[in-house]
Amino acid sequence: MFIGIDDTDSERGLCTTYLSAVLMERLRPLGEIIGRPKLIRLNPCARYKTRGNAALAFQLESDRPEEVKDAALKTVLELSDFSGMNTNPGLVIAPQVTAQMTAFYQRAVTEILEIKEAKKLLDEEGIWYRGFKKGRGLIGALAAIGAVLPDFTYELIAYRERARWGTPRYIDAASVWRADALTYPRTWDTVDHHNNRIVFAPHSADPVLFGIRGCDPQAILEAFRTIKSEPVERSVLYQTNQGTDAHIQQGVVADVRDCESYRLHGFVAEPAQAIAGGHLFFPLQNDAARINCAAFEPTKNFRAVVLQLVLGDELEVCGSVQEGTLNLEKINILHLADKVETSAPLCPKCQKRMESAGKGQGYRCRRCKTHAEGRVQQLLTRNLETGYYEVPPIARRHLSKPLVRMSGENVHPSR
Ligand code: ATP
Repeated sequence: MFIGIDDTDSERGLCTTYLSAVLMERLRPLGEIIGRPKLIRLNPCARYKTRGNAALAFQLESDRPEEVKDAALKTVLELSDFSGMNTNPGLVIAPQVTAQMTAFYQRAVTEILEIKEAKKLLDEEGIWYRGFKKGRGLIGALAAIGAVLPDFTYELIAYRERARWGTPRYIDAASVWRADALTYPRTWDTVDHHNNRIVFAPHSADPVLFGIRGCDPQAILEAFRTIKSEPVERSVLYQTNQGTDAHIQQGVVADVRDCESYRLHGFVAEPAQAIAGGHLFFPLQNDAARINCAAFEPTKNFRAVVLQLVLGDELEVCGSVQEGTLNLEKINILHLADKVETSAPLCPKCQKRMESAGKGQGYRCRRCKTHAEGRVQQLLTRNLETGYYEVPPIARRHLSKPLVRMSGENVHPSR
């Protein structure tokens, strides 16, 4: 049995991953969990997401399917926040993962889908499901089951004791930095060195204490053992599409759609301009088409790279298109254009900067009585190298592939 769950939490509390962790425990007497549970992130532009658009799925071998459905239903009813305005739980239990379900996942991570599309596929395939309220969670629940992951990472999520939900988390900061030092780059995004912040713990009222991300379960467990904190009620190691760029489609500037994410090729058409609040924007051009690219204030030190781009730099950009603007997650500088500065010429005798001799009359040096026709061009050195640059861990989207996973490429990881 493949069990998928989504849309059970609200901004006020709870968490679909917690619900499935509790459900897995309750199902143990009824069967055997096969492999690792899947923590699946779907289209980050989906409108009704609470936070990171996560959905959950796991596989259970059981000869007591009716009792399994019963336990799953009870757990969804007990651990969902039905009062949440945008909480519309979905529970799907499928006997197998078909190619159509995998194609549905592929669409759910890249496009915006409608509830009726999920219901249509569920009905066509004769799959058992229950949708509550609007049943929007059926989209994520079905997609999570269908997710076949050619590339994947892991996340260990530690959960809090119930009595502490909603109170400040106690996590010993020094132990977190130590865990990072011991296990990076096999774990990542635990801390943000450049911005001097611990980034692996939420501040919301949900049951999550923290999450450790990485490519190696041993390293994740080592980090987990190193971290000192309030008691952990339970922890689960998930297999996940986080950190894989599963949402990114190869695209061209002229054809992008809103609410989808792309890798686009083009040339910087103008240097970046800042607006109030420290947000940066520059246009990327490919043939006749242009798109505005944004590095918002929360992307912090990434903006220093964007500020150094000049007219003609050849780039690949990755990010989501929202209201016609691509929100940058990373850039790949393919070729640096010449950065040229024009200035008044130097006097050939005294080597001092010459002054204008009047409109259209060239330049002169009063002292040496020398004269020159026009301004001179000077090639400036670029304090930038080609290769990939990314937003720092503090601003990373769950699905974005961190550069630390791209060894062999020309990368400049933000650490
Ligand atoms: P959390 O990360 O805290 O679990 P969340 O951010 O995952 O919360 P949900 O509460 O799961 O948010 O709400 C997201 C909703 O959007 C779900 O109902 C899910 O089925 C739906 N959804 C997911 N992907 C898409 C998509 N591609 N198109 C339309 N709806 C989607």
